[in-house]
Amino acid sequence: MSRMTRVRTLLPDSSRCLRCVFLAAIALLAPALVWGDSDVIRAVEKSASFETRLRTLCDELGPRPAGTPSMVRAADWALSQFQAAGLDGAWLEPFEIPRSWSDEGAKIRITEPAGFELKAVSTAWSPSTPARQEDLELVLSDGLGEGGVSRLGAKARGRAVLVLLDEAKTFYAMGVQEGNAIRAMREAHEAGAAAVLFASIKPNRVLFRHVHSIDARMDPVPSAVLGREDALRVGRLIESGQTVKASVSISTTQGGPVRGINVVGEIHGSEIPEEVVILGAHLDSWDLGAGCLDNGVNAVGVIEAAQAIIASGRRPRRTIRFILFDGEEYGLFGSRAYVARHRDELDSVAAVIVHDMGQDRIQGYALGGRPELETGLREAMSRIDDARGMRHTRDAFIGSDHFDFQLEGVPALVAIQDTGSYVLPYHSELDTYDKVDMDLVRSRGAVAAATIFGLANADQRIGPRLDRDGVETMLLRSGMADQMKFLELWDDWKSGKRGRQASPTNP
Ligand SMILES: [Zn+2]
Repeated sequence: MSRMTRVRTLLPDSSRCLRCVFLAAIALLAPALVWGDSDVIRAVEKSASFETRLRTLCDELGPRPAGTPSMVRAADWALSQFQAAGLDGAWLEPFEIPRSWSDEGAKIRITEPAGFELKAVSTAWSPSTPARQEDLELVLSDGLGEGGVSRLGAKARGRAVLVLLDEAKTFYAMGVQEGNAIRAMREAHEAGAAAVLFASIKPNRVLFRHVHSIDARMDPVPSAVLGREDALRVGRLIESGQTVKASVSISTTQGGPVRGINVVGEIHGSEIPEEVVILGAHLDSWDLGAGCLDNGVNAVGVIEAAQAIIASGRRPRRTIRFILFDGEEYGLFGSRAYVARHRDELDSVAAVIVHDMGQDRIQGYALGGRPELETGLREAMSRIDDARGMRHTRDAFIGSDHFDFQLEGVPALVAIQDTGSYVLPYHSELDTYDKVDMDLVRSRGAVAAATIFGLANADQRIGPRLDRDGVETMLLRSGMADQMKFLELWDDWKSGKRGRQASPTNP
């Protein structure tokens, strides 16, 4: 049985035509909404364009970091797909990303006690090494976490610090290792290290690209990710007590502002068009793979959802906006720019849903520290079979395009998905079309489409927009404030540079 069949469809198959008469009779009595929901689900499940579009995005358009010609091509293509889907409107919203960065190649060769090359790639937003550094001595961090590099003291100064991050087999474990990498980078800077070399968190010499900040800050120390097995070998040599030296060349380019492009499409609401629900996913990607699971499957899912709702022939009560964000990987720049540009309209945004966790089954939605949203969400999803067993959580975290909407007090949900097929390819050279499972992609896409359609048709909004005090209470209670402090984003909130402004009557 296809996984798709877990999503309920109320329209009968032709093979079950004995039930057709019965169901047709119900149809005459049932509210239009029921048929709209099932038509949307069926349209996504049966869509031939879903696979074609995903192949085009992954194989023809390929990797698409923000500000690059390939991202511009992808945005133009996405706009043409919105137009082909027959939306009421579709347009591009350019914005500025303050900095750009590109990898010009990392070459790292052990020169002592034996000569051998390491598989390596620079970390995102790493500066270059000053010049090719010959005979740079390597030291091993004293474990992971707080103090791992600091404890090396003067031994780290002017040397390359090797940090043996643990292999990460789950999405949660990846987050833990990202935290370890951020701490190591900060401590290496304080200690005056010449470079930081990280063991890849993926096995089989698979490399990946990731950031150490959320707002495209250049790292203070040049760093690279090493093939895991290469790094472990070097670690053993250091542990054996021998002097280990390397020739290290990390070459990157830091540039000025670049143009990001959000792609926006819209279906006008029939009854309360002034209220808007948003379905979003980022279209940009890192460059090692093709950004197929992160986040091509969900970006194409947004286009397919729009097309399916049009194809259902049922106009939603509220307006639905479909947004493909740019600049997410660089630091959530597209959603931040959207929120800034549309700040005056945010009172009218009833809900935002973002998908950014690959192709696997949706476990539920993270409610962003607002458990009171669950009742309305369950009601909006009540006609989706897959939704019955879902576990929505009150979790609040920063990592995708829902974040700036949450800072503005708008009900903003992000899908929590199984990650079995996601963890290994994530941000790596393995994120290519061959990892796609179209059954999973269609099933997840059907849930996303039916959910946004349900939210657009709901009797009431799932929750109010919070005022600034309400947002701050949510940030403190949910633990998001601590995450923002760790990532040095809290001051932007406190100063009013980012997020909900105090109202004039309630400063
Ligand atoms: Zn992503």
